Order: sequence, then structure tokens, then C-alpha cells
Amino acid sequence: MKLKGTVYLVGAGPGDAGLLTLRGAELLRQADVVIYDALANPELLRLASATAEFISRGKNMAMPQAEITELIIARAKEGKTVVRLKGGDPFVFGRGGEEAEALAAEKIPFQIIPGVSSITAVPNYAGIPLTHREHCSSFTVFTGHSDAADAATALRYDQIAKIPGTKVVLMGTEKLEDWTKALIANGMSPETPVAIIQRGTTGRQKTVAGTIATIAKLAAEKDITPPALTIIGDVVKLRAKLNWFEHLPLFGQRIVVTRRTGQAGKFAGQLAQLGADVLQVPTIKITHPTERDAIVDAFMELNSYEWLIFTSANGVTAFFDFFFKRFHDLRDIGGARIAAVGPATAAKLRELHLQVDLMPEEFTVKKVVEAFKKYQNIENVKMCLFRAEIATPELPKALIEDGAIVDDIAIYRTVPETADPAGTIERLTEEGADWVTFTSSSTVEHFHARFDLPKLLRKFPNLKLASIGPETSKAIHALKLKPAVEAKDHTTEGLIAALIKASKPTATAGT
Ligand code: SAH
Repeated sequence: MKLKGTVYLVGAGPGDAGLLTLRGAELLRQADVVIYDALANPELLRLASATAEFISRGKNMAMPQAEITELIIARAKEGKTVVRLKGGDPFVFGRGGEEAEALAAEKIPFQIIPGVSSITAVPNYAGIPLTHREHCSSFTVFTGHSDAADAATALRYDQIAKIPGTKVVLMGTEKLEDWTKALIANGMSPETPVAIIQRGTTGRQKTVAGTIATIAKLAAEKDITPPALTIIGDVVKLRAKLNWFEHLPLFGQRIVVTRRTGQAGKFAGQLAQLGADVLQVPTIKITHPTERDAIVDAFMELNSYEWLIFTSANGVTAFFDFFFKRFHDLRDIGGARIAAVGPATAAKLRELHLQVDLMPEEFTVKKVVEAFKKYQNIENVKMCLFRAEIATPELPKALIEDGAIVDDIAIYRTVPETADPAGTIERLTEEGADWVTFTSSSTVEHFHARFDLPKLLRKFPNLKLASIGPETSKAIHALKLKPAVEAKDHTTEGLIAALIKASKPTATAGT
């Protein structure tokens, strides 16, 4: 149930979008307003409704805390369901406590949804257990950013240096040199192992390991910047055996997914599971056709067709969207046979428990017509095609030439995607990527229309193109470009296999 005027302080987890809680996901879907910090993974915004209002706190928390609190209160007073998305857990160093206090003072109802904190998640993804029977039985967490002048929160390095067990330091990057020196000055062995992990749990995770005496210099050399977390203690040595995440086959690769919203999720999820840093930049979206009268006419005489022909999974989905707006009984589809041009289309139909009566072996116009003729004499046979608005006329033409009576209905339309809820486009155009994946020629064309592919490649010379198959590669060649890899098996799994092969260190040795 949606509670109006309630504020939810939701822990977004440490970076990996998969580490959001189920409760957090449910609330994001209900939110009228989402107010988020830079630490929260912006990909999570995809879970929210497209009509929700998204408010970013900006880079380096550009919006002051007082302003954020005021905004949360104002939106709640308007009766909105507000999700305040905070990195990690809301009650760990994130000023969540202060925000909740302000809500309590205003008597605004609020709930707090815990998140997976960076404190435990980042060491996990770096292969460093915080406790281990052979090494330690406690861990201590502190901030490397405390204000020495403030007696209430100032850290006592003399005490910290003496506590046994692992130490986890948040917000410690900027003053790394100061506090590591302070710990050594207070008696900690300079040989104590230390690791610092930047952007842990994400595809951009970067780890530098050393000792408490060397880490400040090493981190500066390797350009470690916030957000980063430091782990101090013997357990750091276990990383040599347990560093699972950074050894995933696509770790370190930033991969752009250009499939349309709705199709992209599964492919993006598979890539992320293999350690990739995935940017979802959908190029097209599916919408209603411009003309609907023809659909209404066809639906009125659905019973008179001998064949309903689908040429894409999108066509199947769009057909049933319209169908159930008009009819309330599946039997109204009538007794027509069903043809699917292609296995993905057939799979979509089977998902709906509809048997496919005919699927041509190949998907050329000639083979489709042949398959029908093999099935029956198509003279005077009434058929209805449900296709994209831009579909070419060859197929209906060829069927008509052989005597069939064909209605060709535009059931959906593809239009360029313009929404960018997660701000992914800025990350692509400012920071670049390692790969752009194309799963159809139309993704190439639409991506190029939006980004000017040759120009993007000039700006980021290390950016490579990955194609799902020859048709898609043709569209890349048409731009006088070359794909670095083409999938052998023309499926997303095949594309992933090609990416893994090309990303193996041996494949790029010497470059
Ligand atoms: N509430 C958050 C912490 C906010 S304070 C939580 O529970 O995780 C911000 C600090 O958290 C950063 O300076 C950094 O030290 C740490 N941090 C958060 N996410 C991180 C990540 N993905 N990788 C490394 N450190 C991270």
C-alpha cells in the first residue's frame, strides 16, 4: 500500500545495483519523488516510475544538507511519497540521523530501510574478510575525516592504534597521509597490511594494497579518489586467495548496452554478473502506431482470418496490449492459425501458451512464402500481418502475388529513446567506455543518430564496437567503421562469449 506524505530513507547499497533490498526496490517503484546522492547507484532510478520526479543532490553533494532536508519536508507536505535514496546504509555516516530528526520535528511520518553498507560489502568484493578465526575477532570502524577541533567527534588515534582487530576507515582518502601517520606515531606497526578500495562493488572497483607506512604514497600514485574505503589489518593478506570479484571475466570492462528499454535488462544483468561496468543507453523504444483505425478494423474481423502472422516479439506484445483493451476473453482471438517469423517471435507466443503452427526455416521473404505454400494452397486465403510501422512491403506483396488476401497492420512503432533517468549519457560522453554492444542494425543506426559514432570513437580511441552478427556489422561498416568483435553465435550469449574472449588479458597482450 502506498502511504501518501511518507518519507522513506532508503539504503541504496554500496554501488552494485543488485545489493538494494527488496523493500527498497518496492518503495522506489511507488515513489512520487526520489531524492538521491552521488553515492547511490543512479541505475536504481530505472526501478522508479518514469513519471516520478528525480532530484539529484549533484556532484560532491553540491546541494547543501539544509536545502535537501527542506526539500524532503516540502515534498512530503504536498502529500507525495518521497524516497530519499542514500548510499550504503542510511544510518552510517550519511547524515540519515539528522534527516530523520528533522522529519520527526515536523511530525512527518517516515520509515528507514536499511541498506548494505560499504563497511561490509566493499571488503567482501575486495576479497578481505573483516574477521577470521586465525587473524582477529573484532573490527572497528571510524572516519578518516573527523574534525580534530570538535571534541565530541574528534578521534583518539592513541586509543584506536591500540585496539586489536581489523579497522575499516570511511571517508579517509583525502587525509590518508595524516591519519596513517597518526596511527604509526601512536604505536601501530608500520608493517600492518592495508588496502584501499575505490568505488567498491562496482565495475569500476580499484584496489591498492600496501602497508600503513606505504599506502598514502601508493594511493596517490594510483590516483585513488573518493569514494574509497580503507581496511587495516592482517586479514588484508587473505585477498591473495579470495579476490573473486576482480577476477571475473569482464571485470574492468565498461560496456554500453544499446538494446531498447525492456529488452536491455537481462543482457545488462548478465554482463554485470560477469563483473562488467554496464551503461544502459537504450536507443529506441516501442510505442503505439500513428494510425489505429486499421487495428480496430482488423480486430472486428479477427475471426475471418485463417492466419495471424507475427514477425517480431514486439509485434506479439503490442497485439495483445490492444487485444485486451478491446476483448476480455482470450477465445475472441478466433480460430486462426498462427505463424511466427523467427524463433524469438515464436518463443514470445509460446510464453503466452499459444502454439505456433508455422515457422519458416529461414526468414527471407522467399522462404516465408515457400513455407506457407508448402503448408497449403494460399490462394484466397485470408491472412493478417501484425508488424512495425516501418516494415517493408515485400512480404505482403509476395504473399498477395501468390493469391493470398493480406491485411498488413502496423501494430507498433519504434521511436528514438530520449529519456535518460540515470544520467548514463553524461557518463558515456564524459568518461567514455571500453565497448559499445550492438544487437541489431537498428541499434547501430539509432545510436549513431544520437551520438555520432565516428566522433565518439575519435574522442575515446580505446572504445571498441561489438556486433551480434553480420547484419549488424553491415550497419557498422556503412559508417566506415569496423566492429572489433562479431559474435559467432548471433545471440546475446554469443555476444557475451565474444566479449569475454576479447577481454582476456592474453588477447590484448602487448597493447
Ligand atoms: N552510508 C554509507 C557511507 C556514507 S559515508 C554506507 O553505509 O556505506 C561515505 C563513505 O563511504 C565514502 O567516503 C567511502 O569511504 C565509503 N563508501 C561508500 N560507498 C563506497 C564504495 N562503493 N566503495 C568504497 N567506499 C565507499
